[in-house]
Amino acid sequence: MPGIHDAHMHLLYSGLALTSDANIGFDTTSTTIGAKIKEAGCACHYVNAYQDWIMAEMYNNEGFPGGIADRKYLDEMFPDRPVAVLGGAGHSKLLNTAALKRAGYDIENEPDIPGGKFFRRPDGSLIGELGEAAMTKANVSMPFPSLSHIKRTLRFAIQVAHRSGVMSCQEASANTLILHALKELEDEGKLNMDISTHIVYGPEFIAHEKKESLLKLLDAADKFKSKHVDTRFVKIILDGVPLPPLHTHCALDANGQPDEDKIIVKDVAEAVAKYDERGMTLKIHCTGHGSTRMALDAIKAARNKNPKGPRHEIAHNSDVHDDEYPRYKALNVTAEMLPALFFVHPFTASSGGLMDWNFTKMMEANAHITIGSDWGAAPDPSLFAPLANIVETVGRGSKEKGGEILCRMLTRHGAEAVGRETEAGSIEIGKKANFIVMDRDLSKGEFGGANVLRTYFEGECVWEKDA
Ligand SMILES: [Zn+2]
Repeated sequence: MPGIHDAHMHLLYSGLALTSDANIGFDTTSTTIGAKIKEAGCACHYVNAYQDWIMAEMYNNEGFPGGIADRKYLDEMFPDRPVAVLGGAGHSKLLNTAALKRAGYDIENEPDIPGGKFFRRPDGSLIGELGEAAMTKANVSMPFPSLSHIKRTLRFAIQVAHRSGVMSCQEASANTLILHALKELEDEGKLNMDISTHIVYGPEFIAHEKKESLLKLLDAADKFKSKHVDTRFVKIILDGVPLPPLHTHCALDANGQPDEDKIIVKDVAEAVAKYDERGMTLKIHCTGHGSTRMALDAIKAARNKNPKGPRHEIAHNSDVHDDEYPRYKALNVTAEMLPALFFVHPFTASSGGLMDWNFTKMMEANAHITIGSDWGAAPDPSLFAPLANIVETVGRGSKEKGGEILCRMLTRHGAEAVGRETEAGSIEIGKKANFIVMDRDLSKGEFGGANVLRTYFEGECVWEKDA
């Protein structure tokens, strides 16, 4: 079958997570987190990738008393060495006291900022858990690995993606480092993946880079274009996640207006207009009724001004108001459904019904649908097991029908979303020989336990499963 297009990956962060971060699983508790980080931090391949900092992932609030991850659980084992642990599906971080100080937070009197959530003790001092834009100081100031290390980790991430049949993806948090690394890999003839790079417009925390330099990068995007890298893409994270204890998704108020307090990038309409004019495709992260409406309104305004503008994307679509579904097709907006892992998952249940990827309504509205793993926030890029959970829903009770539809979303729809439909997305004369050999016919809907046997990128076997 044609190679899989993953509509939403964080290749850079996934590569780093697999090679350079302390992997502590997802079941740590307040009593085990310190020891687990110590053990995993010393076992990872590149212990000093972040100089003396330790990056770890992921913490799960359920393992902490009252659901609050406190820095005191890290301080005992790490009194001096800065430690940052990722949590909240990538939307929060737990820092120990040393890390808070090093990043420049005023532990006793840190002021609130728009779109940020500081968890505080009764006296107002920081607990150590930082949600959304509250992570900004930490992310833009912590030491980041060198370019040569970034290249190494990207190559590793691409190898892992090949195992899952992915040879085309949208990088959802592109920054200056990754674009330089991809350019060098391309020049060296070492890039065997088609990548559409969504350069971050905002917020800074997701790019680990300051706004000023991101804007410059967006202006210079063309210079980083190459055979396998298309830089005509932009990323905006409009709100957060509907998960406890964050609840940072943007809902609608009683008057049908988005809850402005939850909006992280306030000038989304200006940004959409600006990059739409340049022919760049925006991917806008929305997880609530309010953010989704705001993003579609921004796209509509751009479309009125520039009727022939490019296709844009809403990412997540986990909580869409009924009024919005028909607008996707009307406004030429791709509905990028993700993270696939959470379509059906016990974790999702904790959102209290706020995470509902409604494929049925989206399909009835004839929206252009793609699927993303959100690898980086999700531990594994493989889409087969998660899709086994929804194949019958998508096929309205028929596994075979669901299989066909999902295969199309994973291949042709993805190629169309990034404008590569003349060269990829199907196996046809004149297109690139990008294809995978599966152990079964996926279009019959048997996603559970499916395996990729071989991955071919431009005719060359880039991965083969051991016999
Ligand atoms: Zn993401």
